[in-house]
Amino acid sequence: MPGRLHVVATPIGNLGDLSPRALETLRAVAVVAAEDTRHTRQLLAAFGATAKLVALHEHNEAEQCAQLIARMMRGEVVALVSDAGTPLISDPGFRLVRAARAAGITVSPVPGACAAIAALSVAGLASDRFVFEGFLPSKSSARRERLQAVVHEARTLIFYESSHRILDSLRDMAAVFGAQRPAVVARELTKHFETVLDGSLETLVARIEADSDQQRGEFVVIVEGAPESDSGAELALGRRIFTALRTHLPPSQAARLAAEISGAPRKALYRDAPPE
Ligand code: SAM
Repeated sequence: MPGRLHVVATPIGNLGDLSPRALETLRAVAVVAAEDTRHTRQLLAAFGATAKLVALHEHNEAEQCAQLIARMMRGEVVALVSDAGTPLISDPGFRLVRAARAAGITVSPVPGACAAIAALSVAGLASDRFVFEGFLPSKSSARRERLQAVVHEARTLIFYESSHRILDSLRDMAAVFGAQRPAVVARELTKHFETVLDGSLETLVARIEADSDQQRGEFVVIVEGAPESDSGAELALGRRIFTALRTHLPPSQAARLAAEISGAPRKALYRDAPPE
């Protein structure tokens, strides 16, 4: 009988958020695959768990996967954790989960904290439909390009950000989405200096610029989606222009021009186009 893989969420700051079932699982398994074994050793020690720790991070995930799968095929039960929150959410583990499922191993979640969901739950922005964008690129040009790709997105947007780049990213968001777009900056959730600021992107930049304490720690940035009517109208216009241009131009050129004229995202026009 193959073993099992438990994907176990750990706290994002407050140790009280480790669930009783997560604790029971971490105490029961033979092996814990962890992003940073030193960090997880401290967590396990705090709760009296003594499982063997195996490092699984972005640089060794491919090789470690094979060994962990072999262990589970021999019947061992493995828990996967990351440094904080839910594994695979801007954290390693995707390859291992995919390989385990392909090998017929049961993969079972032990859910818990996730910074994106914790932030969304207190942001007061529409939460019925949202898009998780994770970390933005570190270079401003690539970051703006990524933001531009979602400028017409009507669903609420969720980003992760670090203290090094919070201001630069917020400035780029204000430049691309518009200074008045409402947003929320959730900092140090569940920790001593937890702060949730809301306002337009412009006011958030000013507030965080003015207070260096607000630039410290870990951040989730949540941005209100584009107004539905705008994005819908732009997309409809873009599609009409694209259809007209396509009879005269190669599809990629037609999509680029149609996007430029209408303001609709180029990829959406290209993707929605009926086959020739
Ligand atoms: N897997 C984690 C999760 O479930 O949220 C996320 C890991 S990712 C490497 C780390 C990023 O998550 C941080 O840079 C920050 O953007 C966000 N984050 C983690 N803990 C946070 C907290 N306590 N408050 C605000 N954001 C946090």
